[in-house]
Amino acid sequence: MTLGNVRNLYQQVIVERYKKPRFRGVAEPVHRHHRGHNPSCGDTIEITVSLKLDDQNRIERACFEGEGCSIAMASADLMAEAVQGLTIPEALHLVEQFQGMVKGEGSFPPEQRKLNVMQGVAQYPVRIKCATLCWHTLKAALEASTPLGVSDFVSNEATD
Ligand code: ZN
Repeated sequence: MTLGNVRNLYQQVIVERYKKPRFRGVAEPVHRHHRGHNPSCGDTIEITVSLKLDDQNRIERACFEGEGCSIAMASADLMAEAVQGLTIPEALHLVEQFQGMVKGEGSFPPEQRKLNVMQGVAQYPVRIKCATLCWHTLKAALEASTPLGVSDFVSNEATD
C-alpha cells in the first residue's frame, strides 16, 4: 500500500468515526468535562468523558459527549474504545503514548493500532489540540480521587 493509500484509509476511519461514533454517551459514575478553543481549527471543542469502573478498578466502559471538529470527535471515539478493559495506570500510560505520538514520537503497537490513524495530525500542528483534548479530559477523569455525580463537572480551559 502506498503512503497515499494509507492516508486515505486513515481519513476514511476519521470520517466514519465522526459520523457514526460508537462510544458517544454517558457511562456513570466518573465524569470530567473539558473545554477548549482552537482558533486555528475554528472550533470550540467541548468534551465530557465518563468512565464506569469495575470492582477491580478496570475501565468497564468509557464514553464521551461533546462537540468539535471531525478530528476531535474521531479521536474521542477511538480513545473510548482503546481504554475499555484497562486499569487506571494502563490508561494513563496510553495518554502519555498518545501525546507523544501526535508530536511525532513513535506509534502504537498492534493491540492499539487503531489509534495510529491519528498519527497524521503530527504533520498538522494546528490540529494536535483537536486530537488531544479528549485525552486531557480522560487524564483528569482518571486522576479524580472521588467519583463525581453527573452535575459535578470539572471544567478546564485547555492551555495547549
Ligand atoms: Zn479541530
